[in-house]
Amino acid sequence: MIKKNRLIFILSLVLITGFLTTSLASFFVSRASLRSQIAYHELPLTSDNIYSEIQRDLLRPIFISSTMANDTFLRDWVIGGEADPESITRYLRAIKDKYNTFTAFFVSDLSRIYYHADGILKTVKESEERDRWYFRVRSMTSENEINIDPDMANKDSMTIFINFKVRDYLDNFIGATGVGLRVGAVKNLIERYQNNYNRDIFFIDQKGNITLTGSKPSYNCKHLKEIPGISSIADKILSNREGYYTYKRNGQMIHLTSRFIPEFDWILVVEQTEELAVKKIFKTLMTNLGICAVITLVVLLLINLTFSSYQKRLEEMATIDKLTGILNRQAFDLVMDEIIKDIHRKEYVLSVILFDIDFFKEINDEFGHLAGDAVIQNIVEIARSRLRESDVLCRWGGEEFLILLKECSLENAFSLAEGIRKEVGKSPTLYKGKKIPAAISLGVCRYRPSEDKDAMLSRVDNLLYVAKQNGRNRTEKEVPLKILGEKI
Ligand code: GH3
Ligand code: MG
Ligand code: MG
Repeated sequence: MIKKNRLIFILSLVLITGFLTTSLASFFVSRASLRSQIAYHELPLTSDNIYSEIQRDLLRPIFISSTMANDTFLRDWVIGGEADPESITRYLRAIKDKYNTFTAFFVSDLSRIYYHADGILKTVKESEERDRWYFRVRSMTSENEINIDPDMANKDSMTIFINFKVRDYLDNFIGATGVGLRVGAVKNLIERYQNNYNRDIFFIDQKGNITLTGSKPSYNCKHLKEIPGISSIADKILSNREGYYTYKRNGQMIHLTSRFIPEFDWILVVEQTEELAVKKIFKTLMTNLGICAVITLVVLLLINLTFSSYQKRLEEMATIDKLTGILNRQAFDLVMDEIIKDIHRKEYVLSVILFDIDFFKEINDEFGHLAGDAVIQNIVEIARSRLRESDVLCRWGGEEFLILLKECSLENAFSLAEGIRKEVGKSPTLYKGKKIPAAISLGVCRYRPSEDKDAMLSRVDNLLYVAKQNGRNRTEKEVPLKILGEKI
């Protein structure tokens, strides 16, 4: 028993350790591959996609602005002295409507007048902060730039301007023209990616000010460094043109990529928490462990059952007679010892019958050994059917049987013995179509509490011998002690 428990304990340990190790190893491998998937594929891909969409969205406005800068009408009109401002307004309105831009403008270098789709806006002045952009364009070496500024013509809403220099036919600078696009388009782009892929996307300028977010950013900060947990990597983000970082925000692992968008002079930041994906892996881990626990339990249960039934079979093999299914002689010793103890406690009468099949050798010789077996089984069945639950029937020898009858007087035991004998006489064994008659001789006695079991057995054996001597197929009972005058 102790060995069994130890084996079960060791097996559980082996199974649990094995399952735990494989499940945990697969969890950590999955998490590592998830992290590298985020770092090397998902985040860079989002960043690339957003950038290429921005570039694609800017292509058309750049083309329109370039066309405007080279338009002979515009140049002729400026060279002609900016007469009839209505005609340039019409021109700008037509551009704006046709190409569905947010604004279209021209600033003349000679008059410094800012024309836009709805008329004259103002005169630009070098001293004014808001007009700086014009003087920057005027002095820049390249022919065009993209710039994000509040649009004065449209209630200062953030606008992406595509500014082109306009030159006369002698290549002298005569003004700046271009179109403006709503930042909203980029905002929509951010939101689309944010919603579809569950990522935080925003732009920062080179000083770290958050310049553009989706409409529902996961934190309300104006500057990169205000984002909780990011301070350790904020400077690196600002100084490197692009990079991949991780940091912890409110206990969650955040993966972040940054990339410089030269068109805007901004840095695009894409962030992703690994929580959702890790949750899934964690759920798988839990499911795995659950399954492992069930398997462990089932295996242990099976082992336990196998052990128990094996043990039971071993015990049975030691006490049960194979041919008849009744107790064998070894079992009798154990049972008899128990009954003797019981009798000393409760003082009840125990009677014993020993019987032997008459001329059994002849049955064997005439019908064969298997037929002899069938006769034994038949006689045992007859005896068993007449016994009570508390009586004990056991195979004493080859064709000798012993019956212990608890709380049964000698007289009752005798009549039971006779009943069995008569029934055996009336019930030949059916074997392969033949009827094999048989008879038994019996000895009946009472156990005396003062004697040991061998004394009792010897007495009952003698009585059986007497029955055989007196002609067989009969029962011999002992002479009651009272008659002999002995004391119990
Ligand atoms: P008696 O009336 O004096 O008892 O005569 P008997 O022929 O029965 O003599 P005995 O009891 O000495 O014979 C026992 C025989 O029973 C010998 C043995 O071959 C046979 N025998 C013992 N066990 C088995 C068994 O399990 N199956 C069969 N078929 N025969 C058995
Ligand atoms: Mg015998
Ligand atoms: Mg016999």
